[in-house]
Parts: sequence; C-alpha cells; structure tokens
Amino acid sequence: MTTVFQGLPSRVVFGKGALAGLADEAEALGCRRMLVVCTGSQRTAAERALGVLGGAGAALFPGAAMHTPVEVTLEVMKLVEAEDIDGVVAIGGGSAIGLSKAIALRTDLPQIVAPSTYAGSEMTPVLGQTEAGRKTTQRSVKVLPETVIYDLELSLSLPASVSVTSGFNAMAHAAEALYAEIPNPPLLAIAEECVRLMARALTRIVIDPGDETARAAALEAAWLGGWSLANGGSALHHRLCHMLGGAFGLPHAETHTVLLPHILAYNLPSAPEALGRLGRALNTPEPAEVLFDLGQSLGAPAALKDIGMPKTGIDEAADAMIAQGGWNPRALDSVSLKRLLRRAWSGDHPRMERGGLLLKPAF
Ligand code: NAD
Repeated sequence: MTTVFQGLPSRVVFGKGALAGLADEAEALGCRRMLVVCTGSQRTAAERALGVLGGAGAALFPGAAMHTPVEVTLEVMKLVEAEDIDGVVAIGGGSAIGLSKAIALRTDLPQIVAPSTYAGSEMTPVLGQTEAGRKTTQRSVKVLPETVIYDLELSLSLPASVSVTSGFNAMAHAAEALYAEIPNPPLLAIAEECVRLMARALTRIVIDPGDETARAAALEAAWLGGWSLANGGSALHHRLCHMLGGAFGLPHAETHTVLLPHILAYNLPSAPEALGRLGRALNTPEPAEVLFDLGQSLGAPAALKDIGMPKTGIDEAADAMIAQGGWNPRALDSVSLKRLLRRAWSGDHPRMERGGLLLKPAF
C-alpha cells in the first residue's frame, strides 16, 4: 500500500516567555498594522501583546466568543477595514483563534496565534463557524495560522478545571486521529504521544496549577493534538461535539470531555490499532473506561445534562448525526447512537460494546 503525506506550512515558536518575540515574528511576516483579538477574560494578556508589538500593533478587539458566531466576525471585519489591518494576532483559546481564522478566511491576512488553552486550533486549517444555531466546519489553508507562539506563561492562569477539559479536547483530537480513515506513521506516533503526555500533565496540573514542567508538557501535548487533528481528520466524536455545540450552545471542551469515553467505548472494538496505542499511552487495556475515571478523578463533568443539554435533544441529535453520515471506524445506527447519548446524558460509566470481537490489546 502506498502512503502519501502532505505536510502543512506553519512556523512554531515554543518556550517560556516566547511571546516576547512577537514583534520579530510580525516583522518576518511583513505586518505593520496588526489587530489583536481575544475573549474578554484574556484582555490583559492581549494588551500586553499589543504593547510588545510596539509600532506594529494597531488595534485590540476583546469580543471573541465560543463557536465563532458569524455576527461577531462581521463586527470585527468593520474594524479590520477601518483600521487598514494587515495581520491578526490571537491571544487565548480556540475562541480567539477561531475569530482570527474567520478574519483570515475573508481576507487571507497572515496570523500569529498564541494559545492559552490546549484546544489545538492553532495547528489546523479548520474553521468552525456558527450561524442561526448551526455550526459548519470548513477546511482551507487560508485559515491555517502562519506562526504559532506557544508560551507556557499564557497558560499558567488557566484554571485547573478548564485545563482538564481543554486537555481532554486535545486527547480527543489524538484519539480520533488514531483511527483516521487514511492513517500515516508520524500521525499514529504523534497522536499516541499526545495522550501519554496530556494524561500525565493534567494530573500534575490539578495538584499544582503553577507546575511549569507540567504546563510545558500539556502545551506540547496540545501542539501534538492539534497536529493530529490537522493531519488525521476526525470522525463521529468531533462531528457530534460540533453538532451539539451549535444546536444547544454546549461548552466546547466540556462536551468533548463528557463524550470522549463513550465514543471510544463504541468505536475502539472496531479500531484495534487505536485501542492498542491508547492502551499503551494510558497503560491500560481499557482506555475508554480509564479516560472516564481520569476525568472524574480530576473533577471534570461526567454528564451532558450537567453542561446544558436538554434530554429532549437526544433523539434529535442522533437523527441529525445519522443523516449527516461521514467517516467512522464503526458503522452507526440510530439505536446504538441514542443509547450512547442517553448514557452520556446521564453521566453513566462508558461500556465497551465488544459485539463478539476478540479484543487483544497490542501491549
Ligand atoms: P475558549 O477559547 O472559549 O476558552 C475557554 C474560556 O477560558 C474562555 O472564557 C477564555 O476567555 C478563558 N481562557 C482562555 N485562556 C485562559 C487563561 N490562560 N486563563 C484564564 N482563562 C482563560 O475555549 P477553547 O476550548 O480553547 O476553544 C473552544 C473553541 O475553539 C470552540 O469554538 C471550538 O470550536 C474551537 N476549536 C477549533 C478547533 C479547530 O481546529 N478549528 C480545534 C479546537 C477548538
């Protein structure tokens, strides 16, 4: 069998205090009037970035919002035009980076993004946008950030609870990459390493959110997770999280955290390579169950009902997913998906549905 791998062009600067090099990165891209975008809570960090940019910093927009609502993008586009902006800097999590990508999609302006969560969007040519309760996702190299600055100092203020759910978001990228429709060797190795690093880092961050070694490991795992999503694509888990986020306004990282063990319990019996690698990364023959227990021991939410999902949405969501179709390692049917969603809604422990398959982990 022939393997074809197409790398993506992005520059990564990784290190404690790396944001200090922002002005040099802007100059390397030829930017002289940059717009800094962030969510409200990251305003202070974004103001600092504007200061570091010096003469190349033109304006600040602190109105980024989760799931990249199109109304917010249209508002910021007025500023882009009025201020003659020639590049975007995003400081923050996936919401800030999503807004930066939405601007790039419409303008092709260069982006420098400095992530403060572990969502991984910075590494992907993927943009999800929400309009009228529907989240649609598109892929284009136009939205891939030219430069990514990973500075652990930006992530130190991320509360332990958000660190955990965001870390699960990264592990979800890796887990679904492990059963990618078209896998490749670096993808499998990188995705496995993401899970190994992140699971251990989160345990230490919850004990001490100021543990810089653990923060650096989590940020590195976020890089690997985002890379896995960019180079492996995704399956049922990501499609379902996006759909629930758009339709019911569920919080992104929490939704990933609740659903991941259930989706893996369903998919892994049909994905022996992923089962073996996740098992090695987590040191268990039962990765879905162990991820559920890990989330619980770190204080993560266990139930969709606790993060805003109405019970009446279960059937609607399952039917919409079946109608949407798309790659998944295990065939989907409405009965199984509704059962999975009911378990996730209630916060039940995930159950591996082995369906008579002989499962022998590869370790
Ligand atoms: P987020 O960016 O909304 O951040 C969560 C909350 O934490 C926000 O209130 C934010 O202000 C705050 N925050 C961020 N960094 C902080 C810090 N260091 N200290 C304190 N508070 C901080 O959430 P997220 O989970 O990072 O991103 C979710 C969004 O990203 C969703 O819209 C999702 O669709 C998108 N996303 C896209 C991709 C992709 O490849 N396109 C990948 C992952 C996520």
